[in-house]
Amino acid sequence: MTADANLVALPAWSMLLAALGEPAWLVCARRGTVLAINADALALLGKSEAALLDQPADGLILTPEDMAFWDEAAHGSPARLQSDTVLVDASGALVQVSRRIQQLAPAALNLVGASAADSPPPYLVTLHDRSDQQREADERELLVAELQATLESTADGILVTDLAGRIRAFNRRFAQIWGLPEALLTQRQDEAVYDWMRRSVTDPEDYSRRLAAISEATLMQASERFVLHSGQVIERVTQPQRCKGRPVGRVWAFRDHTELVSAGARIEQLASTDSLTGLSNRGQFAATLSEAIRQARRRAGSLALLVLDLDRFKQINDSLGQGVADRVLLDCADRLKAITRQGDVVARIGGDQFALLVHEADIRGAESSARRALDAVAHSCSVEGLQFSLTCSVGVALFPADGSDGELLMRHAESAMKRAKQGGRSCFRFHQPMQDADMRQRMRIDHAMRQALASQRFRLHYQPQIDLGTGAVIGAEALIRWRDPELGEISPATFIPVAEETGFIIAIGDWVLEQAVRQAVIWHDQGLVMPVSVNVSALQFQQADFNARVMSVLTEHGLAGELLELELTESILVHDANEALARLSQLSQLGVRLAIDDFGTGYSSLAYLKRFPIDRLKIDRSFVKGVPADDSDCAIVRAVVQLAQALGMKVIAEGVETELQRAFLLELGCDEFQGFLFAPALDAASFEDRVRGQRERGGRPRLSLVVR
Ligand code: C2E
Ligand code: MG
Ligand code: MG
Repeated sequence: MTADANLVALPAWSMLLAALGEPAWLVCARRGTVLAINADALALLGKSEAALLDQPADGLILTPEDMAFWDEAAHGSPARLQSDTVLVDASGALVQVSRRIQQLAPAALNLVGASAADSPPPYLVTLHDRSDQQREADERELLVAELQATLESTADGILVTDLAGRIRAFNRRFAQIWGLPEALLTQRQDEAVYDWMRRSVTDPEDYSRRLAAISEATLMQASERFVLHSGQVIERVTQPQRCKGRPVGRVWAFRDHTELVSAGARIEQLASTDSLTGLSNRGQFAATLSEAIRQARRRAGSLALLVLDLDRFKQINDSLGQGVADRVLLDCADRLKAITRQGDVVARIGGDQFALLVHEADIRGAESSARRALDAVAHSCSVEGLQFSLTCSVGVALFPADGSDGELLMRHAESAMKRAKQGGRSCFRFHQPMQDADMRQRMRIDHAMRQALASQRFRLHYQPQIDLGTGAVIGAEALIRWRDPELGEISPATFIPVAEETGFIIAIGDWVLEQAVRQAVIWHDQGLVMPVSVNVSALQFQQADFNARVMSVLTEHGLAGELLELELTESILVHDANEALARLSQLSQLGVRLAIDDFGTGYSSLAYLKRFPIDRLKIDRSFVKGVPADDSDCAIVRAVVQLAQALGMKVIAEGVETELQRAFLLELGCDEFQGFLFAPALDAASFEDRVRGQRERGGRPRLSLVVR
């Protein structure tokens, strides 16, 4: 038997192992057998020293990991192994240990009086009992689970933060109370969560102020209430969270007190604020403005009213969706709030309209406020990878110079804002007293119109519509005419916009509809089957009973729906498109024909056009005017004709005055035309004569230039 230097050193090894204080043994690097083992290891394994000495070491811990280790060691690849594993102890119980195997450094041999030249250094196996540690970890896990269950079972929303305000824990109720989107919580976007909370309260300034006070005082306990835009009343209780007597963070409890508040108070709250931005709404703002005017009057002070309208907001809404549009509005609300001084008021008074009340502002103060508002809103946005710039148009009216009451001031600021839009947008305009004269004229017209309707001074003329191919008169557009005893002949282009502004267009529209239907019936009874087209204003169309009104006029006079055409503007299709679609479908089912008037001058969406049951497009006369000399007019007219053909609609050109225009349109494939080339709008008798004359002559009608 070869003398083994390690064996010589055994008593010294045993002493070292005993000193370790943890179960340990030594393994011969060459033979893989146990060289020495300490009492702790024997106690743990429940074996005697004699039973283990000189036995293969890979039998002591029978895990695949250990076996693989010894296998590799036997093939001469010295290695280290350190990991947690499980042992079966003397009593048969499982013991969690952390086991370490390492080959001793050659220098260790000197310690025991052996030489590295005699034999490679042995392996030292040490075990560390992890049972206590594991028990603690299990207990901790249980405690956390219990705490989580407790947290989830409370009726309060709980949020736990560290000293820096980072969110450490929250329960589901917290998310519920605040209506927090799940993504914000799961993605741990702390800033976004705080921002959401701040935007949800009706008074974000006050909320932020209180929050700042709490975060400055680490040991502060606080309890307060605030109101959310949803009308919920929330109580917030917060106290510091301590660990070993030191503050380490904060626990926040939120309780919904919406019910402890009266329904009346909630309704009032909802009625006075805009639910999206939490700003005052139009009604509330009107009250605030009136009160501010009353106070300014008492102390002979002044104030400025700014009305802001976002430019091309409709496009954002239509192309990017309501979610993005809402975010843009919220952002604008924040930007406007940021530029208002203490005491001044921002309100959202319409879809994309805001108002700003600036106290003690003269013309200079108002101008600088308007510039600040333009600057605040103007910025480029990037939403979902799409870049666009946002701007607004601002109208300004001053008290007392531009109006003595809130309503008037508001009207003036709004009309100034419209002028800013007409002036190219992204700018501001002051109310101009010059417009007062304009307004007086409009009031005069309004008054005269009302009298004209009552004393039957309105008349209808009919402009023939001609089939370009056959030259036959195929329809009549009813156009209103009015001669006032004092003002003389007034063009509908002058009085219809005034009637639209004052709402009187509804009464006029009713009269025109009835009159035109009555005329179509008279012609029909005389053997002249002639469809009549009636112009319909947007406001008239939007009346809840518009369809009912059309139906009742048709039934009352006994006219087939097919003999009535309604001329609508593009704006009708865009405004509340779903409602418009429902109404137009119903009318179409009655056989009533539908045409888009002045096509090409408004905001058209091909998507809408495709969905609506439109029969005819009327090419606006401004495009026909330049035909055939103007290339771009020719291109536009050609495009409209092709579009109508693609959508299966008829197309009629308005304002045809020359033979050249007619020939060009015929060549393009346009179906019909109307215009002075054939006839202006004629009174009913002249219209009949004209058509009869044409029919009696037979064949192709004589075309003549008729001057009104
Ligand atoms: P519109 O519906 O586009 O009507 C066509 C206008 O062009 C009419 O002007 C007509 O007289 C004029 N016109 C027709 N042929 C020619 C032409 O060859 N050359 C030129 N330069 N003009 C031509 P009118 O009658 O002054 O009406 C102006 C607008 O007033 C109409 O435009 C329509 O929008 C509105 N309107 C007229 N009557 C009514 C009505 O009863 N109800 C409503 N809501 N609006 C009406
Ligand atoms: Mg028309
Ligand atoms: Mg037209």
